[in-house]
Amino acid sequence: MTAGFSGQVSDDHDVAHAAGGLLTEAWARIAARMKSEVGEVEYRTWLQQIVLGPVDGDEVTLLLPTRFLRDWVRSQYGDRLSTLWNQEIPALRRVELQVMRPGDRPAVATTEQAAPIVPGRRVVDVPEAPAPVVERVQDARSDLVAPLDPRFTFDSFVVGKPNEFAYACARRVAEKPSSPGFNPLFLYGGVGLGKTHLMHAIGSELTREGRVSVAYMSAEKFMYRFIGAIRSQSTIEFKEQLRSVDVLMIDDLQFLIGKDNTQEEFFHTFNALVDAGRQIVVSADKSPSDLSGLEDRLRTRLGCGMVADIHATTFELRISILEAKATASGVPVPAKVLEFLAHKITTNVRELEGALNRLIAHANLFGRPVTLEATQEVLHDILKAHDRRVTIEEIQRKVSEHWNIRLTDMSSARRARAVARPRQVAMYLAKQLTSRSLPEIGRKFGNRDHTTVMHAVQRVTELMERDTAFAEDVELLRRMLES
Ligand code: ADP
Ligand code: MG
Repeated sequence: MTAGFSGQVSDDHDVAHAAGGLLTEAWARIAARMKSEVGEVEYRTWLQQIVLGPVDGDEVTLLLPTRFLRDWVRSQYGDRLSTLWNQEIPALRRVELQVMRPGDRPAVATTEQAAPIVPGRRVVDVPEAPAPVVERVQDARSDLVAPLDPRFTFDSFVVGKPNEFAYACARRVAEKPSSPGFNPLFLYGGVGLGKTHLMHAIGSELTREGRVSVAYMSAEKFMYRFIGAIRSQSTIEFKEQLRSVDVLMIDDLQFLIGKDNTQEEFFHTFNALVDAGRQIVVSADKSPSDLSGLEDRLRTRLGCGMVADIHATTFELRISILEAKATASGVPVPAKVLEFLAHKITTNVRELEGALNRLIAHANLFGRPVTLEATQEVLHDILKAHDRRVTIEEIQRKVSEHWNIRLTDMSSARRARAVARPRQVAMYLAKQLTSRSLPEIGRKFGNRDHTTVMHAVQRVTELMERDTAFAEDVELLRRMLES
């Protein structure tokens, strides 16, 4: 016995009382609840297309346009939907997910305008959830839209010289997607410099009003989803899903190197979306032209819009980031500690952040103020791993190149200032950047005595205080050696 829900639910059952409007209302609440739980983007991609079907006994049927969507919704949201239905109407104990029959299959619809209508049933218009409860279940939902991390916003991104251009481009795309010249937006830079952060910020900004559908995923996930679709013979649905979004963001594109079929698929998706006036945002660890291993035509297209690189952080930017995060935490962290961290952890903002978080957690836990000593103790392991592995040979080479002297002069007996001064700087840097002792350093500089090294360190320190141009030179060398 299967009945359409509007007034045709079997009379002899409790559910009969829930007929018609009541059922629709219950479904509206469930849909709103799902929306607030999974987030706007995920909701629009997977759940919005659900059509309320018939009720039969203790079972309610929900209809989906494709097998692919049905399977996905069943595996990812099936249990939750059952629970919510049961909470709304205790007599309903089971949820059956079905593919619509060809006759009532709606047009592919991910947007409100293209709402599928099945006679006798209607798409429930989901009222706005009361407040966007961010209560995302951290399960391995390997779906099209990874939920956006609510912490990665434009406001929480600290802007400095190395990232200001990328930031400005990201903002621009978030304000006006698909503007000529900004499509695709290609963000590139080293690990932990904020590429993912900026992409999430664009996504959050665009979906805040709920008008634009955004799909964000890593290139790796793209590949797995694609392979999965091939296996389950649902590539058409996969393509339809991808091509129905307004903004597609693919993170860490370098992952596709050597994955020819996936690259090909991405290339076609890319073209289809751009041709349809949709926005693409891509990130990678290198510029399009340096991504050898990606097909030429794809590289060419990737470089056609706006290419923005995020440079390695400077000491100043690292300090600003630490200051912002320390302030946000509410735990006072002395400037000395921030400077110490910014000096020690230079390559990756994620690690810098991790170190600071650990300090703050420690301070909170033990109720002790953050001090330099505590920092060295608490971060012992991290700092050790970051102990610069610069060699004295490297320092000598860089310094000789910088002042244009011969490498052999680092250990020669010549005392002319043109060679003696760079040699002192190299000793100073060796003391600063390596864990070698003064006698060890002396030996590497033509078997000089440790007092000579000590004198060099003092001399360079004094000079740096007096002569800013000289100090800048030394700082520059230090930075080059550290990176
Ligand atoms: P990437 O994707 O380039 O490897 P992420 O975007 O994941 O790097 O950034 C790593 C971490 O560092 C994140 O927690 C991010 O919030 C933080 N981060 C990076 N750059 C900045 C910045 N300029 N301001 C604030 N946080 C940043
Ligand atoms: Mg990333």
